[in-house]
Amino acid sequence: MLLRILDVGICGTDWEICTFEYGTPPPGDDHLVIGHEALAEVVATGSAVGRLQPGDLVIPSVRRPCPHPGCLACRSGHQDYCYTGDFTERGIKEAHGYLTEYVVEREQYLNLVPPDLRDLAVLTEPLTVAEKALAQVSWMMRQRPPWVDPKTPPEERGRGLSALVLGIGPVGLLGAMVMATAGFRTWIYSRELPPSPRIDLATAIGATYVSSQDTTFAQLAEQIGNIDLVYEAAGHSHFALEAVRWLGINGIFVLTGVPGLQAFVETDPARTMRDMVLKNQVLLGTVNAGPDDFGSALRNLALFRQRWPAAVRTLIAGRYPAEQAADLILGRPKGIKTVISFDSVQE
Ligand code: BGC
Repeated sequence: MLLRILDVGICGTDWEICTFEYGTPPPGDDHLVIGHEALAEVVATGSAVGRLQPGDLVIPSVRRPCPHPGCLACRSGHQDYCYTGDFTERGIKEAHGYLTEYVVEREQYLNLVPPDLRDLAVLTEPLTVAEKALAQVSWMMRQRPPWVDPKTPPEERGRGLSALVLGIGPVGLLGAMVMATAGFRTWIYSRELPPSPRIDLATAIGATYVSSQDTTFAQLAEQIGNIDLVYEAAGHSHFALEAVRWLGINGIFVLTGVPGLQAFVETDPARTMRDMVLKNQVLLGTVNAGPDDFGSALRNLALFRQRWPAAVRTLIAGRYPAEQAADLILGRPKGIKTVISFDSVQE
């Protein structure tokens, strides 16, 4: 399918690629076209295309399967769980991305977007990180503490439980929105101090924002009580390690950040191990997302807009032309999510 790119969101991964800490060009190429958070419009379709048609809005996924016949994950359409590591990722690992006017893609990797989500849909891919995490967490919660009713409807999965989000970047804020929507009492803990549009958004969605610059982990844990879920979206290893200490009984700790090289710290692994065993805790890393997560992200975007119309408008800080991409990626992030737009209609 030939796609015309409309919007591309930029994120920390793009910064890492542009500072040569991460990312690999396709074999034989001396450059990588970046961009993995895209919204596109279908322009033309090949003869084998059945589901989508020109004019449709679509979100392409990022990861493509490895070629190995024995990889159960990739062979079943779940390359987000690839066993071999030989997957590719558009805009990140050995495949060109979406920060360009036109791309060609197979229909199976495209998710149809309802036209009324046009303005927000570029947030789908970063939102899938939290959707995949919550899907796994809910599954575990239903399997483990026997008093969680397995038939709990999705909109009440977190009812009566607390979630602590670490980091107030786009992944953290979108994660907090997912947790709050699922009924968790939600806290966000980060360095940021007011005034800040990010803190305003946190408050608007009913989360409690606490700054690490004026409140310690111990004080925060005191406020929250048993911490049932930690959703790490700060990408800082020391901060994450410190937070593990405050995870509650039967708690689940989800890591989503991919930190670069950071200084070593001294730690007491026996204490972590003792705590994790004696408190039935789970430490879960999660990356990328599957087709179901794209579906739930699109449904949640519509729900977020219904619940918090004013706050949702602040999620996208601005849409800028491609000529400004380098400065925007390498400079300090503006607002919450910065978007490069190829669409002639600027908002
Ligand atoms: C992307 C994921 C990708 C991960 C690791 C993230 O920024 O959103 O799709 O799997 O980086 O490369």
